[in-house]
Amino acid sequence: MAVNLLDFDADGLTAWFAQQGEKPFRARQVLHWVHQFGQDDFDAMTDIAKSLRDKLKAMAVVAPPPLISDRLSDDGTRKFLFDVGGGNAIESVFIPEDERGTLCISTQAGCALDCAFCSTGKQGFNRNLTTAEIIGQLWQANRALGARAKDERVISNVVLMGMGEPLANFDNVVRALRLMLDDHAYGLSRRRVTVSTSGIVPAIDRLGDTVPVALAVSLHAPNDALRDELVPLNRKYPLAELMAACRRYLERSPRDFITFEYVMIAGVNDGDAHARALLQLVRTVPCKFNLIPFNPFPHSGFQRSAPMRIRRFQEILLDAGYVATVRKTRGDDIDAACGQLAGQVQDKSRRVIALTRRNLEAAA
Ligand code: SAH
Ligand code: SF4
Repeated sequence: MAVNLLDFDADGLTAWFAQQGEKPFRARQVLHWVHQFGQDDFDAMTDIAKSLRDKLKAMAVVAPPPLISDRLSDDGTRKFLFDVGGGNAIESVFIPEDERGTLCISTQAGCALDCAFCSTGKQGFNRNLTTAEIIGQLWQANRALGARAKDERVISNVVLMGMGEPLANFDNVVRALRLMLDDHAYGLSRRRVTVSTSGIVPAIDRLGDTVPVALAVSLHAPNDALRDELVPLNRKYPLAELMAACRRYLERSPRDFITFEYVMIAGVNDGDAHARALLQLVRTVPCKFNLIPFNPFPHSGFQRSAPMRIRRFQEILLDAGYVATVRKTRGDDIDAACGQLAGQVQDKSRRVIALTRRNLEAAA
């Protein structure tokens, strides 16, 4: 089986090259071609000796997950759907803004953590994505957007907030993060790469030790009783432990705050008393808040908080001196909003894959 070069970070590629009797600088050249120029054709790597190109052609491939659909929303949000085999599809969302372009990528097909309000969770866990499938989303998005890596005018930020729990797929995620940060690959700033986690405490520590990037923690409730219901993982790592992990992370974080995400669900976690309890909870953790209006999906049993309620909740946090933003729901018309990514993904992706296959067959 051919080796997929997208599965290697720089050290891994250098080691693999060494096994083939090739020098480290050759690995670096290939890293440039693959990630900075988005090249998947070894013959096009013109500064590499023909003999090495032939060797690579025989042994290796550059194989990101195939792009099966690319949809543009009215607000400029663009959603990419990738086939990861076995009837599974995953998604990335590109969100252009005035000052930056953010790509939201997935780390697992499905998720095992089963948060009550998340459609990915409701879909269950299929499998971890490989490093090639994680970094391949960025590789493909750059190509689709006509951009090169290191062109910060296009993708300047990456958030691991798509499908799946990044810290439950630690090793593959770490390799992908290293590529994002590597000057020989994507060269993104640590501050502009954000891992979002539902709070796997030991893995937060490991991330801090291994590759500290910006951290977002999905809080959603100010007390253990409610969080146990919304984020079942809380039963294993309750809030006091999570807050302590956040404080430890800040010693190594490239940013001097944690972002707390808080989904606003009508009548569940959105009262004034919840906001005040939240302020108490976080008092020892320098932080910002990102309030996410709940995005409904069929049979969720929850509703989005009313705009007035969200504003009032936000005001309580602002009045206490915190930065608190309300996430704009973008890409609604193409089901690209947070937690909708899985949406009807299984059905939809099966449909898309079936369609693609039929088209291919028809064309053959
Ligand atoms: N597993 C990680 C990252 C992926 S989820 C995590 O939980 O942090 C990214 C964000 O979307 C999380 O804050 C998650 O709680 C939120 N989210 C999930 N379902 C949602 C929904 N239906 N509406 C709004 N936000 C949702
Ligand atoms: Fe998994 Fe995050 Fe969804 Fe929870 S919110 S089920 S951790 S993807």
